[in-house]
Amino acid sequence: MTERVIALDIGGTFIKSGIFVGGKLADTAKFPTRAQSLQTIQSAVAQAVEYWKDVQADGIAVSSAGDIDPYRGRCVYATDNLKGYSGFDIKSWLEERYGVRASALNDGHAALLGEACRRELTMPAVMLTLGTGVGGAYFDGKEVVFGEDYRYGRFGHLVMCPDGKKCNCGQRGCIEQYISASALKEKCAAAGTVPEKVFSNGDARSRAVVDEWIDDLCRAMETIYRVQKYELMIFGGGVCGSAQRWMPLLKQKTSRRAEISVLLNTAGMEGAYRWWCKNGKI
Ligand SMILES: [Zn+2]
Repeated sequence: MTERVIALDIGGTFIKSGIFVGGKLADTAKFPTRAQSLQTIQSAVAQAVEYWKDVQADGIAVSSAGDIDPYRGRCVYATDNLKGYSGFDIKSWLEERYGVRASALNDGHAALLGEACRRELTMPAVMLTLGTGVGGAYFDGKEVVFGEDYRYGRFGHLVMCPDGKKCNCGQRGCIEQYISASALKEKCAAAGTVPEKVFSNGDARSRAVVDEWIDDLCRAMETIYRVQKYELMIFGGGVCGSAQRWMPLLKQKTSRRAEISVLLNTAGMEGAYRWWCKNGKI
């Protein structure tokens, strides 16, 4: 019988939900996370699962924000972006509630696992997801490295400008403060434009914003390279929609190999599904 697996990508604002049929993502839907408390998050997760109730799924594969122990499928720590989520055994909760095998891993780890599988990667690679913050992960050529605390690869909080901009993690000058989609949005606002237009505007102020952001991307790539050698940098996140315009500019300024995510906003669900499969076959 064809295998059917529900995949969830749980973020602070939305839960993306999809159904894999015979290994292919066949359909998707999107729900608000309602992150006010564990109870509201659980009801949002239930809604995202039960949307596929007619499908008779064989399992549930989760990619989630927060520090997730991928072996036990448990949230070890989450910020207040997901209130009450720290300590939540999402894998067990899903298994008890729906009677099918579940799995869970961090969304940054999942996105890179999805990319690595799709590209059949055999080289060391870093992935940065440019969103509200900067998600990151590292693939060593064989597997995604989770680290002992399940936080390995969070390069967004590496310091690239000592004494630079204050970050919500308590440090100053984190990569995230310079290259995230939010950082770009701020720079655009100061120049009287928006990220959707800045790459095509062509006026002097817009060009200055773009130049500064591209320089920051290069500095971020170098900062990461110093602590973790890699051969390929993969960028994901909403900013990739305009990558056709900014990638050539980046390539003029760095000799390192950089590419855009091939899976874009389904990378988390793809990785979650691959992890579910892998767990089942060990
Ligand atoms: Zn930080």
